[in-house]
Amino acid sequence: MVCCGNCGAPALPDSAFCRGCGTALSLVPPVLDPVATFVGPNYATYQRKWEACDRRSSTYSWNWPAFLFGLFWMAYRKMYMNAGILLGIACLESVATYLFHLADAAANAMNLALAVVIGLQGNHWYRKHVTKRIADITPTVPVDRLQGTLAAAGGTNAGAAIIAFVLLVAVIAALYVAGGLPTGETIST
Ligand SMILES: [Zn+2]
Repeated sequence: MVCCGNCGAPALPDSAFCRGCGTALSLVPPVLDPVATFVGPNYATYQRKWEACDRRSSTYSWNWPAFLFGLFWMAYRKMYMNAGILLGIACLESVATYLFHLADAAANAMNLALAVVIGLQGNHWYRKHVTKRIADITPTVPVDRLQGTLAAAGGTNAGAAIIAFVLLVAVIAALYVAGGLPTGETIST
């Protein structure tokens, strides 16, 4: 996203005057807002949450998509490492549930607690992700290509959310099959 060089308000591609301060955009060189460019859709919402966190000097805020769709939200926001870690936790939890014969209620309570943590920390994790990606990319790209590169590296990826769903189903199916196999005990009898 390109911003007004005078006041920093986002500049629409076809507008002649800034919506924020009224300056003719042809008179001030536009400046690139790397965070807005990288985040893309829903940038304003994230920006609001991050500013609220800063005011409270806290990393906690609330993100409904992160709470409800944890893994898929992470993949959609291209936080692939976070999504991989969460998928690993889901695997471990399934194995633990099977090995220790945890009650469904215990597993459900763990899942709810995990979802609440993701809901509370999602915005903060995403901010760290965005900041790090921009810092990694910026020195490696010529200035005239930075906007396009940041926009392509950031934004959202619905396909990744679908892949995450397929992986999760595959993991659950694999554990289900493994859990249904005869144990050593039943084989020896
Ligand atoms: Zn302006």
